[in-house]
Amino acid sequence: MRIVFLGPPGAGKGTQAETVSKNEKIPHISSGNLLREAIETGTETGLKARSYIEKGLLVPDEVVVGIIKDRILKGDCKNGFVLDGFPRTLAQAKILDEMLKTLGNHIDVVFYFIVSEDAVVARLSGRMICSACGANYHVQFVPPIKEGLCDKCSGKLHQRTDDKPETVLERLKVYREQTAGLVEYYRNNKILREISSDLKIEEISKNIADIINYELKKHKKTMVG
Ligand code: AMP
Repeated sequence: MRIVFLGPPGAGKGTQAETVSKNEKIPHISSGNLLREAIETGTETGLKARSYIEKGLLVPDEVVVGIIKDRILKGDCKNGFVLDGFPRTLAQAKILDEMLKTLGNHIDVVFYFIVSEDAVVARLSGRMICSACGANYHVQFVPPIKEGLCDKCSGKLHQRTDDKPETVLERLKVYREQTAGLVEYYRNNKILREISSDLKIEEISKNIADIINYELKKHKKTMVG
C-alpha cells in the first residue's frame, strides 16, 4: 500500500506514520527527517537545504525530489511506504505520480489531517525530540518521566530550531500558500480521506487503520474479480 500523509506541520503525521509503518510493515519516509539527516552528515543536499529549513521555508523541489526518489527506489519500498511531508507542492505531487507510473504503481490513499492552527502552534512550540532515537514528547501533553530525558533511551531531549514560535508561524503560512492546494488535487483524483487530528492519538490510529483495511479489502477484490 502506497500512502501519503498530508496536513500542516504539527498535525501528528509523524506519530501516525510510525504506527502505520509498524502495523503494515512498510517504511515510514519522512522528507523532513531525510533532509535533517543530510544536514547532519554534511552532504551536498544538506548544505543546500539548511538555510531553508531554518527559516521555515520549503527546500527547492529539485533538492527534495532527488532525496525522495532515491529512497523510494530502495528494495524495502517494493510493497509500499508511508510518505510523511512529501509532496508539499503541486510540482512535487506530479513528479511523484509520474515516477510511480513508470514503476507501474500509484498512490493508493492520501490521508488529509485536519487540525486548527491554534492547536498546531500549541503542539509545535512545546514539542521536544530525543537527540538519540528521535522519539517525540511535549512539555505539556506528553511529558517525559524525567525532565529533559527520553523515557525509552535516556537520550537528551531538544527543541527543533524550526519549532520556535516565529518559525512555526512562517511554516504555517508556507503550508497555506504552497501545500494546502494539494487537498483539491488528491480529492479530484478520488484518493483523499479526511482524518480529524483533534482526537486522542489511539483514536486517530484506529480511524486510519480502518480506512487502510477497507482499502486493502477493496484492492484484494479487484485482484480476484
Ligand atoms: P517536517 O519535518 O516535515 O516538518 O519538515 C521540516 C522542514 O523540511 C520543512 O519546514 C521544509 O523546510 C523542509 N521540507 C520537508 N519536506 C519538504 C518538501 N516535501 N518540500 C520542501 N521542503 C521540505
